[in-house]
Amino acid sequence: MVRISIANPGKGNSSPRENPGSLPLKWGRHGSESGEKTNLSADRLLALSAIGLVFIFGAAIGSFLNVVIYRLPAGRSLLWPPSSCPRCSHRLGARENVPVLGWLWLRGRCAHCRSRISMRYPLVEAAMGLLFWLVFATYGWSPTTWGYWIFFSWLLALSAIDVDTKTLPNSLTQSGLVLGAIFQVALAGEVDGEPTRIEALMVSIVGAVIGIWVLDIISLVGSVILRQTAMGEGDAKLMAMMGAWLGWKLMLLAGFIGCAIGAFAGGGAIAMGWLGRRQPMPFGPSLALGAGIAAIWGESILSAYVKLFFPVA
Ligand SMILES: [Zn+2]
Repeated sequence: MVRISIANPGKGNSSPRENPGSLPLKWGRHGSESGEKTNLSADRLLALSAIGLVFIFGAAIGSFLNVVIYRLPAGRSLLWPPSSCPRCSHRLGARENVPVLGWLWLRGRCAHCRSRISMRYPLVEAAMGLLFWLVFATYGWSPTTWGYWIFFSWLLALSAIDVDTKTLPNSLTQSGLVLGAIFQVALAGEVDGEPTRIEALMVSIVGAVIGIWVLDIISLVGSVILRQTAMGEGDAKLMAMMGAWLGWKLMLLAGFIGCAIGAFAGGGAIAMGWLGRRQPMPFGPSLALGAGIAAIWGESILSAYVKLFFPVA
């Protein structure tokens, strides 16, 4: 009799799925079993305001990510000077700096010279608001939520920079890797019966190392098939960072999903004529998307997969 431990979400899990502590703010409908209507609506109100605050917080972080995305590849300071119009250098006022709304308020144009402001600014802010909400809705008020907020911020910044410059800056992939290891270690001590901090650190390091190997293998296979270098060094470092955050199991899943998305998007882009057959496509966004999906739904996907192929008799 073979026992498959992957379906058991408790021991030896690379990335703790359970939310430590209860989640009184989660949607209200789970919350009050007492059935008192007043409590229910109060819960719901509290949940709604929590969601609103989380979205605003995420959008504000997105606003800072916009600065990172534009300045970090150019080697400029992230903190000084404050945001200004790239054309006329008009400094953004307080109201113009409000995430998403500032752009809408100005109808996408600079208040001073009326030149167009890229739609990507509000899109990045709105995306971060939604992603922060998604993480919160999945993990509630828990250390995992805080960790994944950081992880998702890094992923989004790296994706946008990869699209812009076709590079993944070492400063981001390396700092992200270190933060992933810290996340694993910090989370390890939270729940009894979970891996110790040393074990968690090993999970993180093994995840990172396997991440580099896996991408090198994919890259090798890709270069044989496509007869050109399929992936850059930055992609391997991104996979290492993902391994540090997710552990090797979820990292492999993320890499698989990322490759599928990349192949699909690349094939589609070539079919639509947006991309030449020999033109390199940034692979970072696909990997980052795979990482995001694995972080939110990875355990469910893995256990569904195990149930499908190894049904316990
Ligand atoms: Zn301007």
